[in-house]
Amino acid sequence: MKRKRTLVWLLAVMLVLLLSAPGLSATASELRNEVLETEVLETIDAISSELIAMNDWMYHNPEAGYEEYEAVKLLTSYLQKQGFTVEIGSGGLDTAFKATFQHGEGGPVLTYAVEYDALRGPGGENFHGCQHNMQGPIGIGAAVALKRAMEKHDVPGTIWVIGTPAEEIPPPAKSKMLEAGVFEGTDVLMMYHGSGQTSRLQAGWSGITLDATRYIFTGKSAHASGDPWNGRDALDAARLMFNAVDAYREHILPDARIHGVIPQGGEAPNVIPPLAVADFFYRHPTREYVDKMGERLKNIALGMALATDTQVKIENYGKYYNTLALESLEERAFDYAKELGATQINENKQFGASTDFAELTGYFPSICLSVASKPADAAGHSIEAANASIAPIGHNALVISAKTLALLGLDLLTDPAYLQEVKDEFETYGDPPTLETYIKETRW
Ligand SMILES: [Zn+2]
Ligand SMILES: [Zn+2]
Repeated sequence: MKRKRTLVWLLAVMLVLLLSAPGLSATASELRNEVLETEVLETIDAISSELIAMNDWMYHNPEAGYEEYEAVKLLTSYLQKQGFTVEIGSGGLDTAFKATFQHGEGGPVLTYAVEYDALRGPGGENFHGCQHNMQGPIGIGAAVALKRAMEKHDVPGTIWVIGTPAEEIPPPAKSKMLEAGVFEGTDVLMMYHGSGQTSRLQAGWSGITLDATRYIFTGKSAHASGDPWNGRDALDAARLMFNAVDAYREHILPDARIHGVIPQGGEAPNVIPPLAVADFFYRHPTREYVDKMGERLKNIALGMALATDTQVKIENYGKYYNTLALESLEERAFDYAKELGATQINENKQFGASTDFAELTGYFPSICLSVASKPADAAGHSIEAANASIAPIGHNALVISAKTLALLGLDLLTDPAYLQEVKDEFETYGDPPTLETYIKETRW
């Protein structure tokens, strides 16, 4: 009888344990995540002076697109020291790189994309007016923190840090790397870009698509005074093209933009210029309208060549696409950034701009984090923006952004349901907007 009662008790205890098991394991996994979160944040604090030192070094040694050899050396040697396997020259670009860390079998592939090219400034002086010097340290900080947590707690997965050169100079490097398959296999793609505000993007398609096109006019040189009748003036064709584009501008959609320069237009007034180049960017929120503008500019160029008896060669050297933002990534990252102390918060959802990152967002679930790293009134591509990257506002943004992207990465690594939510959201969006479907709002 006594034995029977003990058995009943034992069964009852087992039943209680069994029933409470899911609750217990949820608490355990929550506890585990808390431990991991704390460790990831502590890692970034511990290496923050090294991250800041890399940021500051690049500020003092700015290299323009496709010439970022020293920056690549700096970033990849640090990654190697941290135990990443590094390949330089990814996608056939000398100053691109891919650093890899894998732990265990399976798990997602998380990619941190980083830029490091400077702007070409006045007098041939490069400068980091777009704050790309911050991106490598931020992506690396997040990647190193995740690597340590994965090793210590046996979390399977793969982390890539992909270095993408020359964001500021077409042709778009990321597009070439995409074609070469460098990003292939990425489950979620994350990056950071400096900003005057901490904000997030409106979910869905936005951004400004862009074409970069050169119109190369060739004529015939002659003495401008002795025998001008033997010359054919290529600069005339380029000048007329600007006039015709200005006439066309009156009829374009309000949110379209066209801007151009003449990088070559002759050497001396007494020589009829045999070569002139008109270089135009034209933009609109839809690729469809950019293509239309491209057709029109082509016809203008052909017409101006006909008018001046010159020839024209048309070279498109860059195409930029729409950005797809996901609420599941944007909201969580925005919340983390605010919790971690980001400043200059703008709660209004933003639209994307023109960037070579945009094309990738159509292929992989992606986020480009925006944490305030310069005074709100510092213009983009300005000396003030460059200087802010090494001031307290820039250093704070660097650490907060590395932590934000590390926590986001940790969630994607350890919470399969969240990863699936991100992937499912990505699948719900169809094609980029057309002229019929784009959101006509003022973004300028
Ligand atoms: Zn820029
Ligand atoms: Zn930039």
